[in-house]
Amino acid sequence: MTGGAGYIGGMATSMLLDAGYRVRVLDDCSTGHADAIDPRAHFVRGSFLDASAVQEAIAGCDTVMHFAGKSLVGESVQKPDLYMQVNVGGSAQLLNVMKENNVKKIVFSSSAATYGEPEEVPITEKSPTKPTNPYGLSKLKVDQLLTQRASEDGIAAISLRYFNVAGALNTSHGWLSERHNPETHLIPNVLKATPESPLQIFGTDWPTLDGTCVRDYVHVVDLIEAHIAAMKALVLGKHEIINLGSGDGYSVRQVVDAAALVVGRSIPTAEVGRRAGDPAVLIASVDRAKELLSWTPTRNLLAMMSDAHVSLR
Ligand code: UDP
Repeated sequence: MTGGAGYIGGMATSMLLDAGYRVRVLDDCSTGHADAIDPRAHFVRGSFLDASAVQEAIAGCDTVMHFAGKSLVGESVQKPDLYMQVNVGGSAQLLNVMKENNVKKIVFSSSAATYGEPEEVPITEKSPTKPTNPYGLSKLKVDQLLTQRASEDGIAAISLRYFNVAGALNTSHGWLSERHNPETHLIPNVLKATPESPLQIFGTDWPTLDGTCVRDYVHVVDLIEAHIAAMKALVLGKHEIINLGSGDGYSVRQVVDAAALVVGRSIPTAEVGRRAGDPAVLIASVDRAKELLSWTPTRNLLAMMSDAHVSLR
């Protein structure tokens, strides 16, 4: 589990352990948190960019879940080379170490950012990939590398293209939730908004039902259940790409209204200009996930918000 100290990797570690798997975590805690790692996991503190750390973590493993990487769109625009070096170079090296150790299975955290501004929604896995930022491009390049390695080396790979992940999980070692610094994601920012520091709504003039951007939110627990299903669905010599979302879209204002219901007070907001690089509408088609993984998300926006809210208290 690369990135097992992060928001999604930490929860995946706990859920896999609960399901009876043994888990080894590789994380340098540069953006993750050591206290997010389930104490039942074997923890190797190190970077996935360090081949010797990967070697130590991978020995005896059957499958790699690769969550680690840089994930800030804004930062990727400032430092495109860093995103290529870490996300693409690091993943290529990880695949090399896997090969040396005869580890042939990988589930990779890809992103809806690989699609860029969609020509139509819902977005299917056959939709054109035209990333609008280096972060999305770096994820696309790793997806392409996995396709190549599946055909050349016979590995089994699944890329899961995440839409907007939210929510929290109560584990045996406490609540795990989003702890990014800086926090750029909508749902944690909505829940943290105060009159002194209101939620900034980025743009109210988008071509959508209420002028704010529409996104597809998926509960982190549903998302991890899809990872476990993906792990079981890996086939040697094949690389599959699968979208993970809910198939429904909510505008920023609808998210704010849902949050007000959950927290029982109005959410202070301030309307500001559009954020660079934001597409108007992103909604996933989740038909392929249903077909290949027999997976459908079961936790709705209110559940995501409510879990995230409880985890913050
Ligand atoms: N957003 C917003 N205010 C914030 C954070 C996000 O209005 O403080 C908007 C953002 O412009 C986008 C949506 O909420 O339309 C979801 O943004 P987020 O950063 O959570 O995810 P993204 O879609 O960029 O992956």
